[in-house]
Amino acid sequence: MTALVQAALRVRRTARSSWVLALTLVLSAFLLAGFFLPETRAFGWGQLTWLACWLALVVVRARAAHRHGADVGSSFELGVLLLVGVFALIQLRGGVQSDLYPLALVAVALVASFAFQWASIALVAFAILLGFGIAFLGEGIRDPIALSLNAFFIGCFGALSHSFTRVEIVRVRRKSELALAAEQEKARDDMRLFRLVAPSSQGVRDEERLYQTSVQEVRQALFHALQLLHQTLDLHTCILLMPADEADQLRIAELVTRSDDLADGPFLLGEGAVGAAVRRQVTTNLPQIRAGYRGICYYRGPAAVRSFIAVPVLERGQVRAVLCADRMDDRPFTPREEALLRGSTPHILRAFENERVFMALERSKREQEILYRASQSLSTALTQDAVMEVGLAAAAEIAPHDFAAITEYQPEGRRHVVKRAIGERALELQGLRFRDNASLTAMVVKNRHYLPYRGEFDSKQQVLFTKKAKLKGMASLLVLPLVVREEPIGTLIVAAKQPSAFGTSVRETLQALANQVAVSLANARAVRQLEELATTDGLTGCLNKRAFLDQLGQKLMAAQRFGRKLSLIVTDLDHFKTVNDTYGHATGDRVLQELGRVLKRMKRETDLVARFGGEEFCVLCEETDARGARLLAERVREELAGTELQTELGALKVTASLGVATFPDHAKSAEELFSQGDRALYEAKNRGRNQVCTL
Ligand code: GH3
Ligand code: MG
Ligand code: MG
Repeated sequence: MTALVQAALRVRRTARSSWVLALTLVLSAFLLAGFFLPETRAFGWGQLTWLACWLALVVVRARAAHRHGADVGSSFELGVLLLVGVFALIQLRGGVQSDLYPLALVAVALVASFAFQWASIALVAFAILLGFGIAFLGEGIRDPIALSLNAFFIGCFGALSHSFTRVEIVRVRRKSELALAAEQEKARDDMRLFRLVAPSSQGVRDEERLYQTSVQEVRQALFHALQLLHQTLDLHTCILLMPADEADQLRIAELVTRSDDLADGPFLLGEGAVGAAVRRQVTTNLPQIRAGYRGICYYRGPAAVRSFIAVPVLERGQVRAVLCADRMDDRPFTPREEALLRGSTPHILRAFENERVFMALERSKREQEILYRASQSLSTALTQDAVMEVGLAAAAEIAPHDFAAITEYQPEGRRHVVKRAIGERALELQGLRFRDNASLTAMVVKNRHYLPYRGEFDSKQQVLFTKKAKLKGMASLLVLPLVVREEPIGTLIVAAKQPSAFGTSVRETLQALANQVAVSLANARAVRQLEELATTDGLTGCLNKRAFLDQLGQKLMAAQRFGRKLSLIVTDLDHFKTVNDTYGHATGDRVLQELGRVLKRMKRETDLVARFGGEEFCVLCEETDARGARLLAERVREELAGTELQTELGALKVTASLGVATFPDHAKSAEELFSQGDRALYEAKNRGRNQVCTL
């Protein structure tokens, strides 16, 4: 419905727009005919009416464009209207020679600057053509130089305005992008300065927002503390400096000052009085500073202050910041004031600590949420594929990465298989199988402990899977063991190009996820095994009777509906009792397994093989008539008769008798199909065994 309304609106708008264009074309024709020239016709009401109509039209269309939002079409339409109107006005004043002619160039510059995309170029072309046409046809100018100069000026004005505007747009956009990037960088710097950021969490939007609010909180707390000191101690400047990431540097964390001569920093740690306080970790109190003293790093020029004090802010014996205060007048900091300043440092430390605790809580809350959601999804994932999908999706939420995989360890063959991989080179690596080796994956399975220890990866030194199948370009890697009841079943792997992507907290959360994934994978495997157990025969791996009957019911219905044939081959080993009696039950079982193998090898993809119990097997052949089924039965009989089994008592050969019955030729129902198959088999036994019989 809304689509219909929108389409109708579009048609209406287009119709209106083409009506306006038609009108401008008519006006252009008048122009070309020199209709507005004073010498053609005395200035009269006709021209005035035209101009008034044009003005009204410009206003109406401009308002419509403003209301609906201007686009390429509407800006073209408005531009054409404007150009035609301006040319009409010029013609009214006497044409190309008139004093109003520069107005045409202004109009061209205007439309070239403000029209959208191709509309501005189209409008400049239109202006050139119209200008040329009016001069040539309307005013009868034949001088080629005058004509081409006219066109040249219009073109030049249009092109220059168009280019200037685009360049200006690009410049402004670039400038705002740079400003935005600088702002983000500054915010990140602050986070690092206050030690709020865990390296791994970069790039996660939620977290960044959280860090930003934390930075603001810390800043506010610091500012209040400094302001209080500034007022109570009547200071010139009160400033808190903190060691930056780079060694030997101090950066301004917060300040309150009356000075306008403060430097931006960072400052070298070794410099002057501040450096001394940091290095010696003791309060530096300088009274009666002589004029021109340059030892206070945060002033740009020689300091005008007369007294200065720097108090190191210590946390567990480490300098976390240095609190500096100074005065312009010669009032040295008294021991009481010194004590007050020192007493304020725990508050500063607490501001950091509170935020750090808050951050840690928030982070762990977020991780718990992800884990909770993952465990809910995992509990409903019944297949191994579904478990791996949910597991890898949750891993991506916990730790953004460029590659992730889940490997399976198969203890029987001591092999590892990359069951699922996502990200870079995933297609090549998925499905990779390799023997137990010295790779990180194999080591993690062996030791049931994550690797590499620091989460750093160097593909030249370390091998993730095999030496050939390399994972290149990753700087961070984490291989976590998947363990169920102390048994390693595989690994969960994440890798990222960014260095130090997986810190301790991320690793612990990923390990919690890995444990859940491991349990879910084991459950999915158990479910699959149960399903197999319920439908297959343990000795031969063929379908069991119940599963076979289920399938037969369905296939029979399909055959009935589509009028197709369906054949059943019933097989019974000849003198099998004797085989058992002579060679023992174990050998008998081997014979049964061999028959199962022969049947499975001979049948077509769509045929079903089942062990019906004892030494009776059935094959159900879809879309097969009695002849086709007989051929298959004959091939099975020959293959079995030609197979020799090695036993302790020498080589053993067995034969089988087979009976074939076909729906709907010999039977109309499943029961009848079986009884007819049995009858055919009985017939084969009667005729001397080792043969195929059809009814
Ligand atoms: P025939 O040619 O008339 O079929 O002679 P037969 O000895 O094969 O007779 P029948 O089909 O009645 O034999 C059934 C025998 O199959 C009885 C039992 O010893 C053997 N048998 C049934 N189930 C198993 C089994 O799971 N393992 C083994 N080893 N033998 C089985
Ligand atoms: Mg039998
Ligand atoms: Mg038998």
